Amino acid sequence: MGMTASLKYYWNVKVTGQPFLYWQRRQAERYPRIPSRWRMDILSPPLRIGARTKELISRHYLEGRYASGHRPVAWVTSGGPVEILQALGFYVLYPENHGALCGVRGAVVELSGMAENAGYSTDICSYARTDIGSVLSGKTPVGHLPKPDLLLACTNICQTVLYWYRVLARHFEVPLILIDTPFVYTKVSDHALGYVKKQLENSISISEQVAGCRLDYRHLKQIIRLSKDATELWQEIISRGRHQPAPISVFDQFIHMAPIVEMRGKKETVYFYAELLRELDENIAKGKGAVRNERKRLLWDNLPIWYRLRYLAEYLGEHGICVVSSTYTNAWGELASLMNSEKPLESIARTYISPILNQGTKYKLDTMKRMVKEFQLDGVILHSDRSCKPYSIGQIDQRNKLIQEFGIPALLLEADHDDPRAYADEQVASRLASFVEMLDD
Ligand code: SF4
Repeated sequence: MGMTASLKYYWNVKVTGQPFLYWQRRQAERYPRIPSRWRMDILSPPLRIGARTKELISRHYLEGRYASGHRPVAWVTSGGPVEILQALGFYVLYPENHGALCGVRGAVVELSGMAENAGYSTDICSYARTDIGSVLSGKTPVGHLPKPDLLLACTNICQTVLYWYRVLARHFEVPLILIDTPFVYTKVSDHALGYVKKQLENSISISEQVAGCRLDYRHLKQIIRLSKDATELWQEIISRGRHQPAPISVFDQFIHMAPIVEMRGKKETVYFYAELLRELDENIAKGKGAVRNERKRLLWDNLPIWYRLRYLAEYLGEHGICVVSSTYTNAWGELASLMNSEKPLESIARTYISPILNQGTKYKLDTMKRMVKEFQLDGVILHSDRSCKPYSIGQIDQRNKLIQEFGIPALLLEADHDDPRAYADEQVASRLASFVEMLDD
């Protein structure tokens, strides 16, 4: 790693950037401002923690901007076993999170279009197209992404990542570590666990080579402990949706989940979620709900529609509907119990083989049924995501089962999590309107 790059890193990140972001956040906390178009008549003011979320995300991308040459950089899939890389000092970037940010900032059509012009089909996941477009054009709403020294793809979410990361590996000419996770039909078999653990062991020597240092197992254990603490706190946070009125909606959860995806294993993340939990508990004590007049409570299945978060929150909020839980945000909390710092590699293997997308449609249906009861829900919206086939498969059956077993309305809403070209405003509005009527029947 180079001296000039390190000096640049320290000056731009530590000396000027981070103190400025800290100051900006303190100002926002001292003089909170409600966004001008915020519908105060239907939604409570934004959570105070928002200023800290903004600071954390900005810091993360700021560090990335100056990471190249100062520390090793890895690009990782969202379900990737990241703790080993963190223990080796990698700066870790998640292209899917960057894709989500591009969705919120309205940059997907342009970036994805660049990938499509280069021959990548519109049928490929919009996260992949957005990332490839960003790589080919060098454009990103965050200014600059660091070039990876290493890529890590884990198939526990889908097979798309395998082909996507192969494209990245060819483009950047860097090593690609693939962690293949066999599907879990009923329970994790010893054979599958051993297979994943072996791959993790093999990945360590490649990662050490790229990082230029040896893995310190004591440090790895510490990181796993922090990951577990953050994940447990996240689980507590989303469980607060059980209160009536719910102090947090899933639209807030989608925004505040960035650190659990992107910054697991860091002290700041644990502190951040402890603060968020405190704020929610204060709001519960005050009887303050995310939706002012909560009358109905829903479950959201699948990824968010990043470019329509505000619209959906307001449309539903206008009718006194709060979406209080989601299988997607739950996926980032439900694995906490599997993390065990005393058995680092085995627990990493067990945790990363068990995400919802690696466990089949029955597991997802059972999760939804449990949530309908625990959160006392009146209905379900299943986002049929054009991009994410593994998440969307089986949704028609799941919707029918939910209707039959609970007698509650369940809506299949067709869209795409990142690409607004696969979203029709009028169609969604009319489907939502009939769904809201059904909820009131
Ligand atoms: S297909 Fe689904 S799981 Fe795979 S990268 Fe896209 S959104 Fe993620």
